Order: sequence, then C-alpha cells, then structure tokens
Amino acid sequence: MTTSSDRKAADAIFRHTIPAGEPCLFDLAAGQTLRLTDVEGNQAIDTLFYNADDPRERYDPQRTLRRQNNLYLTSGSVLYSNLGRPMLTLVADTCGRHDTLGGACAQESNTVRYGQDKRYMHSCRDNFLRAALHDGRLDKRDIGANINFFMNVPVTPTGGLTFEDGISAPGKYVELRAEMEVIVLISNCPQLNNPCNGWNPTPAEVRVWA
Ligand SMILES: [Zn+2]
Repeated sequence: MTTSSDRKAADAIFRHTIPAGEPCLFDLAAGQTLRLTDVEGNQAIDTLFYNADDPRERYDPQRTLRRQNNLYLTSGSVLYSNLGRPMLTLVADTCGRHDTLGGACAQESNTVRYGQDKRYMHSCRDNFLRAALHDGRLDKRDIGANINFFMNVPVTPTGGLTFEDGISAPGKYVELRAEMEVIVLISNCPQLNNPCNGWNPTPAEVRVWA
C-alpha cells in the first residue's frame, strides 16, 4: 500500500547523498524518522539494521515476515529483531513494495550467475563489509539477510525468485521510524549484471527528521 509523507525536506536534521554503488553507515535515535529516496528510479538500496546498544540484536527477516504474514514490505510493516522486538516501522512508502528475499549481491553470486570474469566487480557484500569494518562495531559475521528497498523480486507460481525490472521511479521514497536506537548499514547496490538497478546504478538520498 502506498502512502505519502508530509514531512518537509527543509526540516530534516541530516541529509546525505549516497553516490551510485557506494556504502553508508549512520545511527538513528529512537523516535527519529529516516527517509530513503530512489533519486533517479530503479535503484536497489540494500539495507541492514542493528541495535546500536548491542549490535548482536539485528533485523530478523523470518520473524518480520511471519508476523505480518506477507513477503514484501510496505507502509505499516514493522521490522522485528532476532529478539522479537520492534526495531523500525514503515510509516510512509510511495513505491509500494520492497524485497525481503533476494539478499545482497556478492563476489560469489556474481561469479556463479554471470561468469568467472565478473569475480572482481563491485558488490553489496563488499560494500557492507567495508563500511562495517571502518565503523568498528560490526564484523563479517554480522552481515546477514538484508532488505532491498525499491527492488522487485517477485516469487513465481512454482516458488522460484526472479529479478525483474523495477517498479520504482524517480523520487519514490520510503520512511521508517526508529523504535530503538539503530545502526543503519546501506549498500547503494552497484550491480551491473541484472536489471535490479536498471543496468545503471544511480545515487540514493538519506534524510533524517528528529
Ligand atoms: Zn547489490
């Protein structure tokens, strides 16, 4: 379900443009609202969330999907942690569907899916690791199953997954209210071998309201 927000861009207390293909890590205080904008359209924004006080507590896709009885995220979805606590709530969404199953692109999957010569292409998993290790609170073992905001990964009638052309468009956004203090870890997906970024990775914008 799509719902828009009346938050004014000028009132945001933090604004950052993530360049195409790059990672980003920042904290949100409880009660703050985060807006992720697909600036130019058809851009997958791979995202993970951790409890800032104890990063061993993190976004749990299985629990989140089971509790909402739906595979996709949109307005009203609550993201639960592996300890069963609400971490964030989607309070606005002008795209209408976000993937929870496709995971992050990696050196391994690029090699298996697209060929040995793709081994050294830039990937989301490398982005996650680079930002996590630079921050110092997260490690390799902390990189789990992520959300792909703005990515279209429909489940086929036979239970398979397909990477489809996006349903997002320029300026579409999703807003999340933090229910606890969280670390936000983003890879603005650099993938060039499938249509998840429309074959052309583009910038993403982050805004935070108090
Ligand atoms: Zn990716």
